[in-house]
Amino acid sequence: PLVLVSGVSGFLGSHVARELLTQGYLVRGSVRSVKKGQQMKQILSSFGGERFTYVVVENIAVDGAFDGAVVDAEFVVHTASPFTYSVIDAKRDLVEPAVQGTLGILRAVATHGPRVRRVVVTSSVAAIRTDSPALPEGRSELDWNTPAMAAFNQLGKDTPSRIAYQASKTLAEKAAWDFMLKEKPHFDLTTINPPHIFGPTIHPCKSIADLNTSVKLIADFYVGNIKAVDPSVTFGRVDVRDVARAHVLALENPAASGQRFLVSAGLFTHQILVEILNKRFPGQKYATGVTTGSWIPEINTKSKEILGISEYIELDESIVDTVHNIKERFQMG
Ligand code: NDP
Repeated sequence: PLVLVSGVSGFLGSHVARELLTQGYLVRGSVRSVKKGQQMKQILSSFGGERFTYVVVENIAVDGAFDGAVVDAEFVVHTASPFTYSVIDAKRDLVEPAVQGTLGILRAVATHGPRVRRVVVTSSVAAIRTDSPALPEGRSELDWNTPAMAAFNQLGKDTPSRIAYQASKTLAEKAAWDFMLKEKPHFDLTTINPPHIFGPTIHPCKSIADLNTSVKLIADFYVGNIKAVDPSVTFGRVDVRDVARAHVLALENPAASGQRFLVSAGLFTHQILVEILNKRFPGQKYATGVTTGSWIPEINTKSKEILGISEYIELDESIVDTVHNIKERFQMG
């Protein structure tokens, strides 16, 4: 079957394409430019790349942007969405593209994608919870990040970027489920909700500065750009290879229809990261300090029971593979 993967030249999108190709699917990836499409063709050439084609969708937020891209596809995986904390206008740079992009791809499928059976949207743990450490209990697929939506409703374009990113994911996912309820289209919807994603990159990147937001954090600690541990940081985390696998497992599983899946593999703090770096890549001076924030694990049983992800990649392995990949790609040490 042919799968349209939006944002295929991104960190996660490229891994989803690779996993799909490895499993024998045909993949059509959306990219912003011919140049990125050609780069992806080259990158995927050793993973069944003869089954990969690309389509240029310059801006997902533009009306009708996906209309041509969905034709003949049987499945759609929508990963494209801005993930950055350097924004000027939170509404224009984060929330609008996230919401318009998600609604745009669903509308395109409803009108131009008669063969599509399921759309899998990459949402986030950010749509489920705030990053406040003071949560009384572990979060699950039943929860929504209402504080981020409320903050964005109040502050609009001036919403601080971390909260605005959370609002963008919450509002985009909500818009998707509302669309399904209202329009009752011919296809069904599944969302995958990962926490911070680490792991080796395969997408086009010129430098550490050019890395995607979540992996750049690891690189910044590794190269010493960050001198002190932020004591309050406590996240969920997961490896990109597991998240890609979750998207592919969600495509054809009847029980995944209409479900959101939290794919969280465990705890991440700056202190734990520094401990792994000191142990596995000794000889450099890393950030100092300790974590004082507390964290209650997100509940991932649904991903195990329905998607069948019985084991998640351990944090050590994920970080070590990320650092090896950074060293190799950017020719360091
Ligand atoms: P990347 O920035 O690497 O990927 C985002 C992709 O979306 C890129 O291909 C980017 O294209 C594309 N994109 C963004 N805005 C637009 C736009 N306006 N028009 C067209 N294309 C656009 O980030 P990730 O791979 O990390 O993120 C992928 C998805 O996973 C996102 O939905 C993100 O919210 C979600 N997610 C990520 C987590 C993480 O820790 N990484 C955690 C939880 C969820 P280009 O690069 O050419 O600009």
